[in-house]
Amino acid sequence: MAESNTVTAPKPSELTNWCVGSGATHHMTSNPSALSYVQPYKVIVGSSAIYVAVHSELYIFLYNIGHTQLDTSTGSLNLHEVLCVPAIRKNLLSIGRFSKDNHCYFEMDANSFRVKDNKAGKVLLTGSSSGGLYHIHTEPEISEKLGFYGEKTTQEVWHARLGHPSQAVFRVLLNKHKLPLHGSFDSHKACHICPLGKSFKLPFSSRHSHAQQPLDLLHLDLWGPSPVSSNFGYRYYLSIVNDCTRFVRFYPLTKKSDVLGTFVIFKRMVEKRLNRTIKMLQIDGGGEFTSRMFLNFLREHGISHQISCPYTPQ
Ligand SMILES: [Zn+2]
Repeated sequence: MAESNTVTAPKPSELTNWCVGSGATHHMTSNPSALSYVQPYKVIVGSSAIYVAVHSELYIFLYNIGHTQLDTSTGSLNLHEVLCVPAIRKNLLSIGRFSKDNHCYFEMDANSFRVKDNKAGKVLLTGSSSGGLYHIHTEPEISEKLGFYGEKTTQEVWHARLGHPSQAVFRVLLNKHKLPLHGSFDSHKACHICPLGKSFKLPFSSRHSHAQQPLDLLHLDLWGPSPVSSNFGYRYYLSIVNDCTRFVRFYPLTKKSDVLGTFVIFKRMVEKRLNRTIKMLQIDGGGEFTSRMFLNFLREHGISHQISCPYTPQ
């Protein structure tokens, strides 16, 4: 697969379609991606050269050798010692080699052929003839599977190869196609490209003016409901930011309607501590801040408010 990573991705048919040849002594392919396992040629058969005739000329090749399988509806058939020959244009299947390795024989007529089991004569594989060549066509779903064969690699690489899918989709693809992965799937692993590519809004530019005194301006924001409750049953989180000091208070709440009660407690505490009164609130248009009770409370205590767009507490 190391080689297959460096070659241009071929069309699926180039990976899985084989021409049947009676004159060839070995199976041959120009593309190592067609094989499920590849290794340098010399490892298996030493330093002897192999001669391959291409366009009536003889070439010497000492490239890779590997093996793969043809998956059929009745099982898998082996293609052993497939030579990787860059000069050929079509994958070539040697009838002699194939028959020997899979204990089968070929029956051919003008338009088609059948591969049958030696013992029972059961049809293992069929193919058709076009342009004077006999072709084996594997199932489309097999060609997809062949594309995933190869060395184990990291979750980051698979995430990128698959086009940066969401974690849920990524997990389904990994499990369904049994992609070779180093270690186990980690759903918390972050990808720094995804947020850049998928965010639909530019960040707000930073503001340089701040309130002159503490409690002159407070920013209130409520987040929730959280998809997961805390151990104490909290599902909402209220943050109160002091615009002058940037001091932040954070309150977990069990329900949305607790906002007013929490703010009353906060107001009492902070005003006593700083010996000042709250003058203005920056709130979003969420219902918890624009309820009649909340607005009445602000009015009664002389606190003015500004409303920003929903979901933009910035
Ligand atoms: Zn990503």
